[in-house]
Amino acid sequence: MSATILVVDDSATDRLIIKNMLSSYTILTACDGVEAMHLIETNADIDLIILDLNMPNMDGFQVLDSLKEQKRFEKLRTIILTNYDELDKEIQGLKAGAVDYIRKPIHMDSLIVRIGIHLELLKLQQFYEEKLYERSLTLDAIFDQAPIGIVILRDVESAGHFNDHFVKTNPFFEQILGREKEELMSLSWRNVTHPEDLNKELENFSKLKTGEISNYTMEKRYVKPDGSYIWVHIVVAPLQVQNDMSNNYICLVEDITERKNMEDNLKFISEHDSWTGLHNRNYFVNLLQQDVVHAPTVKSAIIGINLSNINSLSLSYGFQYSQALIKRVATALSSHCTGNHRLFNTYAYRFAFYIKEYAGQVELMAFCKTIKATLEPMLALERVNGGLGVIEINDENKMDVEQILKNLLIASEKALNHPDQEFSYSFFDTEMEAQIVREEEIKMELTEVVKEENNQQHIFLVFQPIVDLKANRINGFEALTRLQSDKLGLVSPLEFIPIAEKTKLIIPIGQIIIQQSLVFLERLNSKGYTAIGISINISATQLLRHDFNENLIKLIHEKQIDPARITLEITESVFSDNYHEINRKLAELKELGIKIAIDDFGTGYSSLSRERELNVNCIKIDKAFIDRITLINSEQLISGDIISMAHKMGHAVVAEGVEYEIQRQYLFDHDCDMVQGYLFSKPVDEEAAITLIQNTWGE
Ligand code: C2E
Ligand code: CA
Ligand code: CA
Repeated sequence: MSATILVVDDSATDRLIIKNMLSSYTILTACDGVEAMHLIETNADIDLIILDLNMPNMDGFQVLDSLKEQKRFEKLRTIILTNYDELDKEIQGLKAGAVDYIRKPIHMDSLIVRIGIHLELLKLQQFYEEKLYERSLTLDAIFDQAPIGIVILRDVESAGHFNDHFVKTNPFFEQILGREKEELMSLSWRNVTHPEDLNKELENFSKLKTGEISNYTMEKRYVKPDGSYIWVHIVVAPLQVQNDMSNNYICLVEDITERKNMEDNLKFISEHDSWTGLHNRNYFVNLLQQDVVHAPTVKSAIIGINLSNINSLSLSYGFQYSQALIKRVATALSSHCTGNHRLFNTYAYRFAFYIKEYAGQVELMAFCKTIKATLEPMLALERVNGGLGVIEINDENKMDVEQILKNLLIASEKALNHPDQEFSYSFFDTEMEAQIVREEEIKMELTEVVKEENNQQHIFLVFQPIVDLKANRINGFEALTRLQSDKLGLVSPLEFIPIAEKTKLIIPIGQIIIQQSLVFLERLNSKGYTAIGISINISATQLLRHDFNENLIKLIHEKQIDPARITLEITESVFSDNYHEINRKLAELKELGIKIAIDDFGTGYSSLSRERELNVNCIKIDKAFIDRITLINSEQLISGDIISMAHKMGHAVVAEGVEYEIQRQYLFDHDCDMVQGYLFSKPVDEEAAITLIQNTWGE
């Protein structure tokens, strides 16, 4: 081993002898204590000192004392040189810090061996010191400086009870909790855990104790001294400590408050309507889902609030304007929130109150009236209507959440469409439910029928004659559709046409109807009745299709039918959608000779002055006007006026739903052109229709 040895002796001979003997080491020499101290101060690599006790100036004891005084010299090993008769000095020197002594005259072999031993010991000491240093560096430094909380806790066994407490906490943990080490030492994790997270962690911890799991991680909240809390992610595992029989655990704690805050923010955004600040549909659906699963027996109800005309309000006054109104509505409704009346903004202009544990329908009706009284005054000014739908959720009507909300919307739409009231409510009931089921069935039936190749059995036409009053002859027929369902029997067009319109199935169905109508005309042709026409009912949805005209014209050409024999019956409501476009299309058809009749005249937006601008040939006076002919004396009837006005505009007039002779007579007297009704015939099938023609026209 290379080592540096300082030899301190006032005898130059001794110094020389020793130096020669120890030539394998680096040797420094000093002739007295003063020189020795100087060398020690300036040479940090001295390992061993051989020190004569008897010296002038500063003797060996004084050197030993000075070395002892300074901590930085504590590792220096000193072997003292004594004389044979100085036993007491040997003892005194050892007490003063020397590690060994060698007597003079020096026995050289013994000196070399001893130095060898001491250097070896020194090496060992250094080795262990290094090891110790390394260990303390890793453990203590990590513990003290890690940017993560580290806690050791100890659990003292006591029959089934938690008796754990913190035994060691690091500065970061103390900082996270905002508590002093001293305080923490008297606490358990249970004392500083948020009450809402406690049960979950107790469960984890007891599993850990029983060995069921080897560690656990969780996100939880610690409570700070001021009562605020902090989110952390923890990992807890057992910790084996030597010679310690109690159960120790280590817990690593990461502060995740920032991440949680961000998550909370995102959660808030996803659960709230940004404009009204109310909980949104998302949140409501989740809440309902939990309630339906976890507390199905609690009696609860939802009142849906649906506002109409908001879109047109936006169109007239701008988006900001209608949004401001929505906000006022939200604020006004919020004033009715209580613990068991919670408010949600389920859609832009739809709200819902979720009511738990109400007494009965009477209470719900009263609440509807409260809502009405709140909103009506503020909405009436804006010409906005409201419809309240009420749905009760209980054990009898098991529904999933989507279904509940759908039914709620149906009930509120029904209320919204209430003819007489601006603001009414309707309960979702079994009747509505049955109606929905039937609607669903019809929808499926129609979907199937459209797919069938030979669908004449399921969707077919009946024909009702339209009679020329003056000539008293059949002029044409109105084609009226029937749906024959295997499951539902014969379904009225009054029922299935609106469904077909809603689902757009009216497009393919309408095509089938036109085709069958033209086939009927072909059949009439084959019988020689080439002048009799057909009136086909056309829905707005059909007419609005860009290719409607094109398809119709193509079919007429294919079947080589005179377009003048075809009348399209449309209601005035089609003009409300896109007046100019519709009128342009009608003009195109009229140009080809196809006739256009306004159906149900008098029930819709009827305005005779506008009728003038419309590209139509004929109006059909609605049955409601014809019905009055039997009831009121003729001066009060307006049917006659309608006829003369229509004639002035060049339109032909058909009277619908003529059932009595008295009506026919009146219409005859007032120059009505054509009549249609049970008085002449109900709608009949193709064969019967031909028979009817034969009866008036002859074979
Ligand atoms: P609409 O076009 O006004 O047809 C007249 C309805 O009145 C027909 O009912 C007809 O059977 C009935 N009716 C005729 N004369 C009398 C009468 O003297 N007394 C009474 N009480 N009723 C009479 P239907 O066939 O049930 O059709 C009802 C409605 O269904 C039609 O009203 C029409 O709006 C619609 N519809 C029927 N077929 C079609 C169609 O092919 N396409 C479209 N888009 N709608 C159709
Ligand atoms: Ca019609
Ligand atoms: Ca009609």
